[in-house]
Amino acid sequence: MPAELIDGVAVAKLVRAEVARDTQALVERGVTPGLTVVLVGEDPASAVYVRAKEKACIEAGMNGKTIRLPATTPQDELLALIDRLNADTTVHGILVQMPVPKHIDPQAVILRIAPTKDVDGFHPVNVGRVWIGEKSGFAPCTPAGVMVLLEKAGVEVSGKNVVVLGRSNIVGKPMVSLLVAASATVTVCHSKTRDLPSVVRGADILIAAIGRPEFVTADMVKPGAVVIDVGINRVDDATNAKGYRLCGDVHFAGVSAVASKITPVPGGVGPMTIAMLLKNTVRAATQGLD
Ligand code: NDP
Repeated sequence: MPAELIDGVAVAKLVRAEVARDTQALVERGVTPGLTVVLVGEDPASAVYVRAKEKACIEAGMNGKTIRLPATTPQDELLALIDRLNADTTVHGILVQMPVPKHIDPQAVILRIAPTKDVDGFHPVNVGRVWIGEKSGFAPCTPAGVMVLLEKAGVEVSGKNVVVLGRSNIVGKPMVSLLVAASATVTVCHSKTRDLPSVVRGADILIAAIGRPEFVTADMVKPGAVVIDVGINRVDDATNAKGYRLCGDVHFAGVSAVASKITPVPGGVGPMTIAMLLKNTVRAATQGLD
């Protein structure tokens, strides 16, 4: 039997409706949650993401603002802007779209954002808070979205063997931290993992986030496993009018024949990322009231 689809579009819609309700309640208390996104340069993919974030904020009834800076902006100027946003009480969430131009140190940018406004969850203070299970910490949006997808799909995480493929700071590592907090037994694989297919075959739940198109094939997946595909890859496709198609890190056609549940790409994890960003921003605005 083919795997059941985990519909990220539908789950993201639920989360965004919840965010809109919470926003309305805050507005009634005199606070409009505000997210400011800073985009340095003109990277086309980043411009698309930033527009989508602003639009989602506005649809939820929040203040969504984008500040666009030229690619030549000196690091000091960007840091001074972050200082102003940190001090602005109408701004509850600050996000500097990555990647920043090469002359800017991304870590200096992350460290400058006040942890209470770091709705991306990349500041070391938030990384630490999430690790030790402190509720005030902001978890990065993509792994937080994966946890909501698993929950809404009725997948029990506690006690399960979960393999996370990838150890980046934005997906793999925070994914591990959230899964451990949810009482999973977690194994992390990366480019130095020996005999990766046999490790992956031990997974009751597999989370793939390596940025390698269709890397995970059916023979690497235990029958009945739940497969979450975080990957978003563009591959050339002459049959497509755009000349390319999007695919994940999982070979969807093959793996969906052995898995019990699977996320598609697009329409799986992707829509959850923005939904969780909105959720973090509402939380930031709420924490400001406490
Ligand atoms: P990174 O490139 O930062 O990290 C990739 C990780 O995968 C690294 O830990 C790397 O190992 C590991 N890796 C790469 N190749 C292999 C391999 N052949 N075998 C084993 N491990 C390997 O990627 P990100 O974490 O930023 O993103 C991963 C994917 O998720 C991408 O496709 C990205 O587009 C997508 N993504 C999707 C989002 C969404 O909203 N759905 C949001 C963010 C990312 P090592 O550390 O040893 O180098």
